[in-house]
Amino acid sequence: MLSYLHAFHAGNFADVQKHTALTLALSMMQAKPSAIACFDTHAGSAIYDLESERARKTAEADAGVQKLWACRSGLHSEDWQPVMEVLSRFNAGEGRLTVYPGSPAWFRQFLRPGDSLTAFELHPTESSQLAGWAAEQRVRVMHEDGLKGLLRQLPPAQPRLMVLIDPSYEIKSEYLDVAKTLQKAWQKCRHGVYLVWYPVLTSGLQATLKQAVIDSSVRKVWCSEVHLKTPPERGMTGSGMLVVNPPWGFDDRLTDMIEQISGQQALGLSHEHGWLVPE
Ligand code: SAM
Repeated sequence: MLSYLHAFHAGNFADVQKHTALTLALSMMQAKPSAIACFDTHAGSAIYDLESERARKTAEADAGVQKLWACRSGLHSEDWQPVMEVLSRFNAGEGRLTVYPGSPAWFRQFLRPGDSLTAFELHPTESSQLAGWAAEQRVRVMHEDGLKGLLRQLPPAQPRLMVLIDPSYEIKSEYLDVAKTLQKAWQKCRHGVYLVWYPVLTSGLQATLKQAVIDSSVRKVWCSEVHLKTPPERGMTGSGMLVVNPPWGFDDRLTDMIEQISGQQALGLSHEHGWLVPE
């Protein structure tokens, strides 16, 4: 049974890390003209109302994207520009953000004519909202399991590949399922750039995923973890991304971006990063 709904969490600190990494990786890949096949294995519903009852109930965006937006004038890295442009496109005016784009909407902003996006979503309501949004976009929506669906689609028609794997981890076995899927996908398309999101939990469950990736034959896996400086006693205390085959220089540029928003006045994060698996 699927009970997770991203509307309660859209725009939180984890989304900021995830969508910043996604934007940077895609922008860097697009420095070359050859086409990219993009896959979003757990897409959600694409557009989130930050004033909705669900969003206001948790107010998670207040400590995430709203803080990012409030401190935007002090961010010196040019890499923030595409992130801010996307947020501006969905929001009129300079005040608080009212709309937050989910991962398929971030991908969509950067698609060039030869690029493609396939978005998987299993939850029936989320999937039909996603399909409603996608009808006006150049996005293929598949109402099916994203891990199995991804493997069926690889290798892609285009010369390059970018994949976001962002499950809700409602089921403990998902940590291992993600690692196994990554291994199989990598065997089918070794040059692909794979972004895998995971929660950093007090239970430490994320170690299962990281260890399984270390034990696999996948190489060149960079890991970025942000940790809340004032964490809750239980639950999610941080957010992690594994990036397989990051574009050259991606690690330094993302680290620089995250450091700019880490202060207590901004998102209040510490950042740990490095190669989980070297080349
Ligand atoms: N990627 C989205 C974003 O960044 O805006 C958020 C995705 S949310 C963390 C995870 C989503 O995966 C939920 O919408 C959930 O319904 C969906 N989901 C859960 N199990 C799935 C599966 N096996 N295949 C595809 N989608 C699934």
